Amino acid sequence: MDWNKLADILVPDENVKPLDYYEALYPERDLPKGARVTRLAPSPTGFMHLGNLYVAIANERIAHQSGGVFYLRIEDTDDKRKVEGAVEVIHSSLKYFGIAFDEGAELSGNYGPYYQRQRAEIYHAYAKDLIRRGLAYPCFCTEEELEKTREYQTENKLLPGYYGEFAHCRNLSEEEILANLAAKKPYVIRLRSQGNVEVKHPFRDAVKGEITVTENNQDVVILKSDGIPTYHFAHAVDDHLMRTNLVIRGEEWLASLPIHIELFKALGFRLPEYGHNCSIQKMDGDTRRKLSKRKDPEASLTFYREEGYHPLAVRTYMMTLLNSNFEEWRLKFPDKPLDEFKFSIGKMGKSGALFDILKLNDVSKTVLSGLSETEMFDFLKDWAEHYGSDAEKKHFSDREYMLKVLSLCMGIGGKKRRKDFVSAKQAVSMLSYFFDDTFAPEYAFRYSPEVVRSVLEGFEASYDSADDSSAWFSKVKAVAEENGFASDMKAYKANPDAYPGNVSDVAEMLRVAVTGLSNTPDLWTIMQILGKERTLSRIDGAIASL
Ligand code: GLU
Repeated sequence: MDWNKLADILVPDENVKPLDYYEALYPERDLPKGARVTRLAPSPTGFMHLGNLYVAIANERIAHQSGGVFYLRIEDTDDKRKVEGAVEVIHSSLKYFGIAFDEGAELSGNYGPYYQRQRAEIYHAYAKDLIRRGLAYPCFCTEEELEKTREYQTENKLLPGYYGEFAHCRNLSEEEILANLAAKKPYVIRLRSQGNVEVKHPFRDAVKGEITVTENNQDVVILKSDGIPTYHFAHAVDDHLMRTNLVIRGEEWLASLPIHIELFKALGFRLPEYGHNCSIQKMDGDTRRKLSKRKDPEASLTFYREEGYHPLAVRTYMMTLLNSNFEEWRLKFPDKPLDEFKFSIGKMGKSGALFDILKLNDVSKTVLSGLSETEMFDFLKDWAEHYGSDAEKKHFSDREYMLKVLSLCMGIGGKKRRKDFVSAKQAVSMLSYFFDDTFAPEYAFRYSPEVVRSVLEGFEASYDSADDSSAWFSKVKAVAEENGFASDMKAYKANPDAYPGNVSDVAEMLRVAVTGLSNTPDLWTIMQILGKERTLSRIDGAIASL
């Protein structure tokens, strides 16, 4: 059998160079000892899953904490899943969460190209080498033949796949191969597995710890009939030539680990360290299940941007899922930048991470309550510009006005910072009553129209926008008394049945009239921000609605 000759016929590619050429072109990286070279290797499907961010944060932290490199590789070998503009989506969604690559697709770097489709020549070189060494061979089996084998294996409860006696093309003679080629039969290139499923090896997974790996015996496809590699083969070649030394990836790849171990061995590459992180799960009623792209909007990274979650909130929450000791650290050092936390692979969850949106909301409230007025202004404005209504966008044109609103609603200058805001979307909508174009009150007065009218008119008659907070409140008390309400809380509590209500019920009527809401920050300040004219016209509007 002349595998040398066959290699050239089976993988015809004029660009292929000797392996030494690639080894020299992509030399070992000159990095400090212990530096980790990690990557994110998404397929350009246009969909970024929360799991992508999860794995990106882990890889980014580990690389940068160790003085290493974190790069982006686009795994676009599957043309059917490819979507226009997907790389742009990958970059923009990760950038939003502050994930920075050192090199990779659409960035510079000495280990590119970083798109697998542009690396065909390299895969061909290594596939040819395997063929020459008798470690790979062409397979001409048709889909129907493979299906028949599968059926037979299922019926007889045998291990499924292309291996041993079922690997029909494994032992084709040179003549048979040449005859098939002459007949223009399509073919794939398969690995000639040397493994035995009876043999098991201990393996140290960086995340899962000590596990057992069964040897691979499958003659997996390495090059498809169009010459494009499979993920298994491409990632082995790429991670080797890009000098990756740690692969943190989803646990759905754990089942393929035996194949990868064998491929690295066959190719003569040093195996990188692997860590398989657990999937992100959620509670669905009483059961725990994987976060699903189809069922759960929160599975998509776009969800967090559209909803206006602050990137720091999402990152902080992801850290609580990623490292079991993070929350304790955050409590101890609430103001330290996230990157000062010492991320550790060993502290990553070994089984499913439970995603809880209510917990994310809590973290968000805390993060937003730590922003200054101007940071909050910029954050909300940016959200409104991308996702807000036209009216909401306009609310940010009068910066000074909005800053006053924010300062009040965030409780700045008060005794306690308010923690009302969860997201930009919710905040922008909550603030809409400060703007006439979005002020759409649904008055819910708890007293009869006559009482409300009398209270509102009484207040209008005495209102002076120059009053300070205490003068203003004295007037509200006076209106309460005029209408038979208790202005003194002690007197009210001693004999509540003697009154229709107390001064806070009167204030509530004013609040509902001016804001449409029964619960708001300080009403005097709201009236100050709205100004005299708008305050009075809103009260007029409420009276007219009675
Ligand atoms: N392209 C694979 C994926 O998107 C990458 C897995 C890996 O990180 O090696 O799941």
